[in-house]
Amino acid sequence: MPINSNGSILRSGRTKALVLPVKSLARPFKSLVLPLLTTGSLLLQALPAQAQLAALSQISPKPGSEPLQVFACEPEWKALAQDLGGEQVKVFTATNAFQDPHFIEARPSLIVKMRRADLVACTGADLEIGWLPLLLMRSTNAQVQTGKPGHFMAADFVPKLEIPHQHDRSMGDIHADGNPHIHLDPRRLMMIAEQLSQRLVQLDPDNAAYYQHQHQVFFKQWRQQLSQWKQQTRALKGQAYFVQHRNWSYLFDWLKLEEVADLEPKPGIPPSSSHLASLLDKVEGSQAQGIMIANYQNPQGARWLSRQSESRKSESSDHHDHDKALPVIELPFTVGGSDQATSLISLYQDIIDRLLAVRL
Ligand SMILES: [Zn+2]
Repeated sequence: MPINSNGSILRSGRTKALVLPVKSLARPFKSLVLPLLTTGSLLLQALPAQAQLAALSQISPKPGSEPLQVFACEPEWKALAQDLGGEQVKVFTATNAFQDPHFIEARPSLIVKMRRADLVACTGADLEIGWLPLLLMRSTNAQVQTGKPGHFMAADFVPKLEIPHQHDRSMGDIHADGNPHIHLDPRRLMMIAEQLSQRLVQLDPDNAAYYQHQHQVFFKQWRQQLSQWKQQTRALKGQAYFVQHRNWSYLFDWLKLEEVADLEPKPGIPPSSSHLASLLDKVEGSQAQGIMIANYQNPQGARWLSRQSESRKSESSDHHDHDKALPVIELPFTVGGSDQATSLISLYQDIIDRLLAVRL
């Protein structure tokens, strides 16, 4: 499929702008995204629109075939597996949206679930290092061990941010394979979806046509969504926020947001009073829009900084506009993290809506 100089794909002689902002992607990202867009996902492109719809609507799983048992580590992978596997997957999730995925107990009930799984779908990049290896070992399920088709680590399929040049314990609980919180960039999510769909096909080839159909529907919907979000988030570009843990780096990469500072003195270490106090100067010196926290995090440190910011701002400014406290912006971190975030799409939408609502 030809790609023009703007990164747009030329289809059937007409120039149709590609929704994915390929041009703005970093170089390693580009090399991964472009082949993806030009291969499997657009197989039906050659058919006229009517024929495409007819072809898509006729596909369903083979009668009598057993659904794949999927063990998802986090709710975002449960949602993605369900979107792509439809009625041909049965998905269990090890964690809910109100748990910190870094710290999960390898409970016997999880081992039982993993023992029965055809596919384990997790984040990887060491996010689950404290509990997943133990579950894998205790499950004694050969199908889902590292290197097997039943072992899917989403972070293996996207370019990662913040890969440390050196790593020692004094730096805190740093993620040695780069930042694993990859799911809040929908462009990366589309790359992962392509791979996960192929994995479903590999594990259950009898239903290949069904999984490909599911992926087509997904891909089409997400391209439209990306275009809408691009319009909606124009006003957010360049806005700066405090964070509590680098949970949001991929969201920032997508929306071109800036990080003022991290409330954690070191990655994985909760905010301390001395570190929080040291951040007060940054409140005055920056144009920060707020303090982002995930719905599962303790909001105390963020609230303290917010209260202090009010008095600091009053002292340093004659303008009443600037007397407002820096808002604490609680965001759903994954599907189920707020009443609105009931699917992957509504998760992104809710995050965007909440960020737009607090613009100063
Ligand atoms: Zn982390």
